[in-house]
Amino acid sequence: MSGENSAEVLIVGAGPTGLSLAITLRRFGIGVRIVDRNPQASTVSKALALWSASLEALQGMGVVDRFMREGQRLHALCVGEGDRRLATLAVGEGIDSAFPFPLLLPQSRTEELLAARLSELGIAIERNVELVGVTQDASSVTATLRHADGRSETVTTKYLAGCDGARSAVRQLTEIAFEGYTEPQTFLLADVKIDGGDLDHRSIYLWWHNGGTIAMFPFGQEVWRIFSMRGPDSPKGDEPATLDEIQHCVDHYGPHGLSLREPSWLSIFRINERLAARYRLGRCFIAGDAAHIHSPAGGQGMNTGIQDAVNLGWKLAYSLKGIGNTELLLDSYEAERRPIARSVIDAAAQKQHLSFGASKLTSMVRNMAVSIFGNIPAVHRKLQVELSETEFVYHDGPLVALGGGQRSRKRTEVGTRARDVSILDTATGKDTNLWPYLCEARHSLLVFQDETQPTKLNGVADAAGNRLQVLPIDGRRDPTGKVRKRYRLDGPGWVLVRPDQIVAARGVGDDFSGLGAYVAEVMQPASR
Ligand SMILES: Cc1cc2nc3c(=O)[nH]c(=O)nc-3n(C[C@H](O)[C@H](O)[C@H](O)COP(=O)(O)OP(=O)(O)OC[C@H]3O[C@@H](n4cnc5c(N)ncnc54)[C@H](O)[C@@H]3O)c2cc1C
Repeated sequence: MSGENSAEVLIVGAGPTGLSLAITLRRFGIGVRIVDRNPQASTVSKALALWSASLEALQGMGVVDRFMREGQRLHALCVGEGDRRLATLAVGEGIDSAFPFPLLLPQSRTEELLAARLSELGIAIERNVELVGVTQDASSVTATLRHADGRSETVTTKYLAGCDGARSAVRQLTEIAFEGYTEPQTFLLADVKIDGGDLDHRSIYLWWHNGGTIAMFPFGQEVWRIFSMRGPDSPKGDEPATLDEIQHCVDHYGPHGLSLREPSWLSIFRINERLAARYRLGRCFIAGDAAHIHSPAGGQGMNTGIQDAVNLGWKLAYSLKGIGNTELLLDSYEAERRPIARSVIDAAAQKQHLSFGASKLTSMVRNMAVSIFGNIPAVHRKLQVELSETEFVYHDGPLVALGGGQRSRKRTEVGTRARDVSILDTATGKDTNLWPYLCEARHSLLVFQDETQPTKLNGVADAAGNRLQVLPIDGRRDPTGKVRKRYRLDGPGWVLVRPDQIVAARGVGDDFSGLGAYVAEVMQPASR
């Protein structure tokens, strides 16, 4: 089971999470199989927004340029009630990222771009293949796969990753509870073209009237995604949505004068707010919708899944290569990612209830909140920064504990995301960005030093071998001191960044004891 072509990880599900995990593992040279029970990729738009932290991750996967070429940058969120526009909130302000904006692209296209990247890395998705059984022991996992022709295949790998969506077979077969609840209302969805209303196709519209809500998101060529809600007492129950019903909702709750046509997708759905009780059982892991589902308010489901994959990917890769303390690395996945999912679920539910709550009190509070707070830049900056997922902190788990100290929300402290900044490329004399350097499939050590007195690591990082790149930052690369300031160091020191661009450890002066401890646990060959 070693070598490039044999699968050491079986990934179940070729949605955005499974594809991101497969790409991440391939970047580390790990052999994977990725199977999906669907005969072809999904063609429906589903997730439309890629937020900053996902775009940063896509750079690591070597594919962000393609997304930037095809996606549409969002300009504003317009909020109104009946004839009144309550607020126009600029989108992208205050996000500290290499990509400080959300990008709109239908999920079907996101999946195509990721699948194309995976194919470049030598892996084809195996379709019409369904996982139906799992057993495991201390050294391997055995999965039973059912092929379209009824053939059953038994495959044994080192690890199994369930990226198989909300009804995850991996989660069910490993008997991991999916705790939470289902919202009582039925939601309506339509992808349509719209005549009239003079809408800006780079803005989201969130509109209320007559006790109902309409949310409209632009994407593609002239297409709009519309969300609305059927009340719990609606006589339509779970009947399929029709264009007439959506038009009726728009006429009653939305901005005036909109005429809908050419629906490319009409659907109804229920919202679940659920979180898996655990993300790991032995050699089986779950990620993405298999581990957490919530309201689409905030548009974070797919984004959170992509980031689960990037977090898990490098840890599985290190374990498979016999690098570092396997249990510490693998246990850190759930410890880091599950609390993030908990907060995303809670925040999405809150936004959902505020946006779609139909009571008079909710609508009064909502209109007041939007009119008063919506026009305060600090408030809407805070909301966007939250959605961008760039400011989260990994508080828990054995890996961030290795970095020492108390967790802090300040960016570049241990457990937070690294920051992009421009540095001078000494070879070309031109400004360039730090972020691509941090996207390599290894750890990066920023060593802040005085060029007249280069810092000596005294062999402390030798055991890391080529799993560590050292980036000296001195007055030649950082003539204005901007990098130093962004990394909050006012003298010599160092910052160690993980392959998923999370700050792993840091120190001042020539005290490298923290680096040594981290290298010993994470980056040197495991003693066998
Ligand atoms: C209407 C709607 C709007 C949304 N809007 C947004 C948004 O704006 N932003 C956002 O971030 N998210 C949004 N989401 C959520 C987003 O679509 C999901 O979070 C995302 O698809 C999760 O990706 P995933 O790869 O984890 O799972 P999925 O995309 O569900 O992929 C799972 C895959 O596993 C396969 N599979 C399942 N069981 C098996 C099995 N036993 N064997 C083999 N294969 C199997 C399935 O065929 C599927 O291809 C939206 C969702 C909906 C429905």
